[in-house]
Amino acid sequence: MIDTEKLATEPKADTFLGKTVLRIEEMLRPLGEPGYRAGQIYKWIHHFNADTFDEMTNLPQSLRDTLHARFQIKTLQRAQVEMSADGTEKYLWRLPDNRHIESVLITEARRNTVCISSQVGCSLGCEFCATGQMGFIRNLTSGEIVEQVLQIRKLTKHPITNIVFMGMGEPFLNYHRAVQASRILSDPEGLAISAKKITFSTSGVVPKIYQFTDEAQPFKLAISLHAANQPLRERIMPIARKFPLNQLMESVRYYMRAKRQNRVTFEYILLHGINDSLANMKQLISLLSPIRCKLNLIPCNQNNLGFSAPPPEHLDKIREVIMKADFPVTIRKNRGEDITAACGQLAVEVSEKVIFMK
Ligand code: SAH
Ligand code: SF4
Repeated sequence: MIDTEKLATEPKADTFLGKTVLRIEEMLRPLGEPGYRAGQIYKWIHHFNADTFDEMTNLPQSLRDTLHARFQIKTLQRAQVEMSADGTEKYLWRLPDNRHIESVLITEARRNTVCISSQVGCSLGCEFCATGQMGFIRNLTSGEIVEQVLQIRKLTKHPITNIVFMGMGEPFLNYHRAVQASRILSDPEGLAISAKKITFSTSGVVPKIYQFTDEAQPFKLAISLHAANQPLRERIMPIARKFPLNQLMESVRYYMRAKRQNRVTFEYILLHGINDSLANMKQLISLLSPIRCKLNLIPCNQNNLGFSAPPPEHLDKIREVIMKADFPVTIRKNRGEDITAACGQLAVEVSEKVIFMK
């Protein structure tokens, strides 16, 4: 596995977006400005979602002009927006280095969730995941992570209540930037989204689960499990070779002993004929029963990787077995499939378009 933490590219032009107040203070120091300007600029960008320095009316005009000449704010170009018949919205962004990422807004009766990307591509190569098949291209900066939410907040009519790191990439292989972005997203002076409504989803980068626990991060954790035994997990998720299932489960128990969350969420994609037999379901229940958890079963989304969701009659049988579990289970409705906005469908089309344009 590549150590992607070391492979981040910093943005070419300086932006204040995604920076802490302390860092902004350092950036302003050569201008001889008083320290408190940093807090003002931070809040204009992250809390008031300013697009230009001219909107920052409590800064002197001369400073606004200097900032305008030397710094930028937003760095993501909106390349495409698609609306699904079910209310899902998919946003395609062009990064300064001409790479593309996607974010998806999922609207529901009581909450609106933005599913954000943490990397361009992913090094972990899960067999069923379109992003994984692209390979790893680069980490996103904390600014690029935060900006997905800021821009959508301005473009959509739906108030954003929840954030999940379930777009492209593995947030635990871009740990520091994903955490810093989440601090800004949850900061009352920043985007002010409750930390409890921000979920990190990991395919099982075990050392980072320990770090996340030891640092007492206030965000939620979801584990992409997808198999309840080691040989099957290894077959569909190469990361299981490096961090086997028993080590993963041990790290989750460690996390739960620290009581970071009421229940940890497990995600399990149902891949027909691979991991969705009734025996698989029974094994899944016995693996998870000792843990205070909830389980999200996700019928596989169509992509061109050769996997399919269970047919309706088999799904009914799964439902019968799984409802006997003594923890909450949901079977997820697929959303946004008509615009390929669903999990595991992101990005391949985009890179195909990019290749085509060359
Ligand atoms: N790398 C992290 C987070 C991003 S993956 C992780 O794996 O948890 C985003 C989500 O999409 C994960 O829950 C993943 O399991 C799911 N996913 C990937 N391919 C899918 C597919 N074909 N159908 C349904 N969900 C899929
Ligand atoms: Fe990476 Fe998550 Fe896709 Fe696996 S499911 S390849 S970890 S983005």
